[in-house]
Amino acid sequence: MLDKRQFYINGEWVDPRAGRDLEVIDPSTEEPVAVISLGGQADTDAAVAAARAALPGFMYSDPRERLALVKRILDIYMARNDEMGAAISLEMGAPIDMAKTSQSGSGTWHIQNFIRAFEQVEWEAPLSSEAPEDRIIREAVGVCALITPWNWPMNQVTLKVIPALLAGCTVVLKPSEIAPLSSMLFAEILHEAGVPKGVFNLVNGDGPGVGTQLSGHKDVDMVSFTGSTRAGIAISKNAADTLKKVHLELGGKGANIIFADADEKAVVRGARHCFQNSGQSCNAPTRMLVERSIYDKAVEIAAETAAKTRVASAHEPGNHIGPVVSQMQFDKIQGLIQKGIDEGARLVAGGLGRPDGLNRGYFVRPTVFADVSNDMTIAREEIFGPVLSIIPFETEEDALRIANDTIYGLTNYVQSQDGARRNRLARKLRSGMVEMNGKSRGRGSPFGGMKASGLGREGGIWGIEDFLEIKAVSGWSNDDA
Ligand code: NAD
Repeated sequence: MLDKRQFYINGEWVDPRAGRDLEVIDPSTEEPVAVISLGGQADTDAAVAAARAALPGFMYSDPRERLALVKRILDIYMARNDEMGAAISLEMGAPIDMAKTSQSGSGTWHIQNFIRAFEQVEWEAPLSSEAPEDRIIREAVGVCALITPWNWPMNQVTLKVIPALLAGCTVVLKPSEIAPLSSMLFAEILHEAGVPKGVFNLVNGDGPGVGTQLSGHKDVDMVSFTGSTRAGIAISKNAADTLKKVHLELGGKGANIIFADADEKAVVRGARHCFQNSGQSCNAPTRMLVERSIYDKAVEIAAETAAKTRVASAHEPGNHIGPVVSQMQFDKIQGLIQKGIDEGARLVAGGLGRPDGLNRGYFVRPTVFADVSNDMTIAREEIFGPVLSIIPFETEEDALRIANDTIYGLTNYVQSQDGARRNRLARKLRSGMVEMNGKSRGRGSPFGGMKASGLGREGGIWGIEDFLEIKAVSGWSNDDA
C-alpha cells in the first residue's frame, strides 16, 4: 500500500502536524491502495501561513514570469500524462484508457486554454479615452483556498490552480479525500516546474476538518469550491464571517430536449453522455425530455443503449464504464433507483444490484426509467450514477417549462434541426451553459451554473478574472517609467 501521508507546504513534503489516517480505496476491487493523512488545524494554519508569506513576492511578480511557470507545468504535465491517468483510474474508478485521455486530458486542455486566455488580460488600462488619468488595475485576490471533488479530479484542479497562479494568487489546495492521489502527483509536477516556495500548498483533509478550517480562515481571501450544493451552502455560511470572496461550482440536473426533428443519433448520444464517467458528471444530461411523437421509439433506443453499455473494472483497457467511486455513492444510487420504482416510473433497462458477473466493486447497472414525471425524486435529485430519466413533452413551451423546473441550472441540451427553435430555447433556458445538437463547448468557454448550480465561471478569460480584483485609480501619472 502506498504511503501518501505527507502534505506539500512551503515548497517541501512535510509530515502532518495533526493528522489521522484514511485509506484510499480502489473502487474496482474495494481494496485499500494507499493511506493518506487527514490534516488538522495546525496543518491548515501552516499551509495558509506559507501562502500568506509568499503572496507579496508572487502577486507583484511580472505576469509573464507566471505565464512561463504555467508553460513549464504544461510540459511536465503532458510528459507525465499516463502516470496521471493511472492515479485517477485507481482512486476514482475511471477506466484506464478514459482516465489517460478524457480525465487527464481535460487538465492539458484547460492549461492550454488558460495560456491562450492569458494574452487577453488587461493588467493595467485607461478607463477610457476621455479619462487619461484614470487607470483600471487588475491584481491578485490574495490567498485562495481551492476545494475540489473526486469525479473529474484534474479537470477541477487545473480549472482552479492554473488561473490562480496566472493571476498572482497563492493557494492552498484541498483535494477530495476520496481521490487525493492525482492531486499529490500534480503537486510533484508543480514542484518540478519550479513553483516558488509557499505559492502552492496541498493539505489533505475532509470537509468538517481542513475544508471548514479553510473556508473560515481569517488569512484566506477567497475560497473556490467545486462539489455538492450541500457543501457549497455550508462553505458560503462559514465564509461569511470573514467576508471572503466565494466561487461555487455545484450540482446539476440537466435536461436534454429532443424534438421529433432531431438527428437520428440524438437519443443514443444523450444516453451515452448520461452514462459517461458512470454518470458522475455535474453536467450530465440526466433528464431526457422527448417529444411525444417519437417518445416510444426513443425509450426503446435508450434502453438498448443502456443494455449495450459495458461495465467492467477500471483496470481493463477498452471503452466500457467503470464502477462508481465509493460504497456511499453505490448505496445512494441504489436508494434512488428504488425510489424511482416506488414512485411509479417504468424501469426499461438496468435496475437494482450489480451487473451480471460483477460481485465485488462499486458497479452499477446502466439504468433507464421511462414515464418519469418531473416531480418524481429521480427527476429532482442529482443521482450521480448511470441513471437516465425519460420524460415526454407535447410542445416547445411544455419542454421549456419542464427543463427550467429544477433548482439547478448548469447545462441544458437541445436536439433539433430547426435553428430558430434552438436559438429561442438557448435564450430562455436558465442555465450557465446550453449545448445543442451534440456540439461541445469551444476552447476557453466559461463553465459554471445559475441557481443552485453555483456562482461564477471557470475556464478561459473568465476563469482568470475570477482570481483578480479590480482597482480603479484616478490621478494616474502618465510619466510612469
Ligand atoms: P462534496 O461536496 O461532498 O465534496 C467536495 C469537496 O468538498 C471535497 O473535497 C470535500 O472534502 C469538501 N467538503 C465537503 N463538505 C465540506 C464543507 N462543509 N466545507 C468545506 N469543504 C467540504 O462533493 P463530492 O461528493 O466530492 O462531489 C460530487 C458533487 O460535486 C456532486 O454534487 C457534483 O454535481 C458536484 N460537482 C460539481 C461540479 C461543477 O463544476 N459544477 C463539478 C464536479 C462535481
